[in-house]
Amino acid sequence: MVSVPSVVPVLSVAIIESVATLPDVRPRRLAAAAAELCGAGRRFDARGWVSGTSGNFSAVLDRDPLRLAMTPSAAFKGELQAEQILEIDEQGAVAGIRDDDRRPSAEALLHVAIVQVRSAGAVLHTHSVWATLLSELHADRGGLAIEGYEMLKGLEGIRTHEHREWLPIIANDQDIPRLSTVVRAALERHPGAHGFLIRRHGMYTWGADVREAVRHVEIIEFLMEAVGRSESWKGATDGGRQDSG
Ligand SMILES: [Zn+2]
Repeated sequence: MVSVPSVVPVLSVAIIESVATLPDVRPRRLAAAAAELCGAGRRFDARGWVSGTSGNFSAVLDRDPLRLAMTPSAAFKGELQAEQILEIDEQGAVAGIRDDDRRPSAEALLHVAIVQVRSAGAVLHTHSVWATLLSELHADRGGLAIEGYEMLKGLEGIRTHEHREWLPIIANDQDIPRLSTVVRAALERHPGAHGFLIRRHGMYTWGADVREAVRHVEIIEFLMEAVGRSESWKGATDGGRQDSG
């Protein structure tokens, strides 16, 4: 006859030992997030949206306390390696093991602001030509309106082309703590926005995870190029009519 009391203690010890030897989950989350951020870098570099080491990306590893996987400063995004990705805290400072002089992107605090206000799981920032041009041309209106395009349905929660997306335009500022306060206010003022532009600088968007944020970058970049090209064609056509009239 099997004695139950003799079996239970053995199982209990086995369970305790397996829990004790489980590797910390955060390094595994960092490795997975790093691989996804490197993939985003290759995609965006191929499109010319992160030229010359511009742009920066992050993904949430933990929310309490907040920890983000973040691209380092001055790295070519098309050549990112997973081991270059840093873990940062809610002050934008490097957290965890630090064995070299890598620094997180200067704009890390903007990522923290977006994650906190939008409960985002990933934040991606590009420096495309169209974001740079349109953020200047529409700055006086305070934002860029995009409406009527089928591709708007690629934004989370949008089900029809009959949607008006408003991308707030924020003045550029090298004082990142001050800029992050302005970003927080803009996000709270425009709760439906899927992204925002910084004047003559670039575009920020986010998502529940890296995959959704990558989709938002591709959708918004497509829409900005469509708006930018149609505005320039319209300008040329209107100008031509005026010249001939
Ligand atoms: Zn930037």
